[in-house]
This record gives sequence, structure tokens and C-alpha cells, in this order.
Amino acid sequence: MGKISKNAKVGRGAQKFFCPCGGEVKMKAVFQNGKMKLQAVCEKCKRTERRPKDFV
Ligand SMILES: [Zn+2]
Repeated sequence: MGKISKNAKVGRGAQKFFCPCGGEVKMKAVFQNGKMKLQAVCEKCKRTERRPKDFV
């Protein structure tokens, strides 16, 4: 308590991706055929791809 943890994960695990339009790509959970899937969605142009890496 009161100490700063050396294990603090800041800036890790939250890699950012950006759409060609300049918008930030975020992962959203969507339901497809009764299953939950994660989908990458651009916040600006609402473009959706299966993976953030598909925004090229
Ligand atoms: Zn976009």
C-alpha cells in the first residue's frame, strides 16, 4: 500500500490501431449467430473489419 507497483502495466496490452480515415479503431463485441465475436470498428467512419490489422 502506498508503493508504486513495478508491475504496473501502463501502455501495454492496449495497442492502438488507426483507420486510413484517421479514426481510432476499437474492438467491440458483437453477437453473430448467437456467438459473441470481437469486431474492429472505426469510431470515425464506422467501418468494420474482423481484425484491427485489416484497416490498411
Ligand atoms: Zn475510418
